Amino acid sequence: IDAFAKVPLAPPDSIFKLTAAFKQDTNPNKVNLGVGAYRDDTGKPWILPSVKKVKADYLSNENIDHEYLPILGLPEYTSAAAKLILGDNSAAISEKRVVSAQTISGTGANHSAGAFLSKHYDFAAFGIKKQIYVSSPTWANHHSIFSNVGLEPVNYPYYDKNTIGLDFDGLMKALNEAPKGSIWLLHACAHNPTGVDPTAEQWKQIADVFAQRQLFAFFDCAYQGFASGDLNKDAAAVRHFVDKQIPLLICQSFAKNAGLYGERTGALHFIGKDADETERLRTQYSVFQRAEISNPPAFGARLVSSLLNEPTNFNQWEADIKTMASRIIKMREVLYDQLNNQLKTPSPNGNGWGHITSQIGMFSFTGLNAEQCQKLIDKHHIYLTANGRISMAGLNSSNVEYVAKSIDDVIK
Ligand code: PLP
Repeated sequence: IDAFAKVPLAPPDSIFKLTAAFKQDTNPNKVNLGVGAYRDDTGKPWILPSVKKVKADYLSNENIDHEYLPILGLPEYTSAAAKLILGDNSAAISEKRVVSAQTISGTGANHSAGAFLSKHYDFAAFGIKKQIYVSSPTWANHHSIFSNVGLEPVNYPYYDKNTIGLDFDGLMKALNEAPKGSIWLLHACAHNPTGVDPTAEQWKQIADVFAQRQLFAFFDCAYQGFASGDLNKDAAAVRHFVDKQIPLLICQSFAKNAGLYGERTGALHFIGKDADETERLRTQYSVFQRAEISNPPAFGARLVSSLLNEPTNFNQWEADIKTMASRIIKMREVLYDQLNNQLKTPSPNGNGWGHITSQIGMFSFTGLNAEQCQKLIDKHHIYLTANGRISMAGLNSSNVEYVAKSIDDVIK
């Protein structure tokens, strides 16, 4: 038999393709601005001191065995993770309305949430299609993840290329026309790929429409703490929605904020509206998770549990997060100063380069077009995706001026 005869060749993932091209480039000035992982000021991956410590503790602890975790994961990890995103004084936690499950990092949380909604969400009751609304643009993998589990992604307006900022009017209009019960994916903070977030006031207005029109919020939170350097500030939008009793779930990742990319440490939290719904979600999600992964991996969860539950580790982790966020914020300031003030580079929308510093998190939408991006790669050995997104983590004090001059060159 030739069972896979009709399987077409798939294109390579664009980010991995970019990384491969970067690796092959022998130019000493080459810069990788495609990478979605933190780099220190020397361009190297950074193992957080707090993580080094909890890993050493783990390795020296002879009492830890290698048994399976419970189906929903390490309880002291999932409960601390819930507290981290929902806050110490969360009413949802004290009322025991939170169902938390450990997932295969943020991707696994998105997948599991999507698959669970696809199976159990009552689309028929609202007379709506099996769809999820996603920002235009969004993390490209959202499209693949939801399509894979039978949830059709539908774009909603988000990014305005004229202002290189938020299309707030477009977003509000779309929300105001949304069908009751529809599911809307929101980036909790540090929107990927644009770096453009609503302001606190805009979040309030967005939440009001969710409440009025009875929409379901699907929060993807991959960068808590990484955006502003403050774990609570970056959780503010989620907490506001929870306070307003908007039905929601949260996908959480510790890849970026703990630098645990490979350990695949994440969580999915549902907030039940009452004890009955919470129990039905908990039991049914357990059945679902058993079939998907049986039980999640232990190592990363044990490390993060130590980070979150032991005050001295937590303090060090908070300081480490500040180190990463501050370096990124500093790079934004330097790049802005170079382009706006030193080189006086014309900005893509003619309004200066303020978007570089007003955007937050790991990524920035520069506003560069595909042709300019290709020229940066070909002529200057600076690797970035064709949509003009750059990873701020790829900039450091040795290459930021070179990058600014190169951007200046492809624009002028
Ligand atoms: N969601 C968003 C918006 C992301 O940017 C990422 C990572 O880039 C993820 C989820 C998931 O990452 P991971 O699976 O590594 O936790």
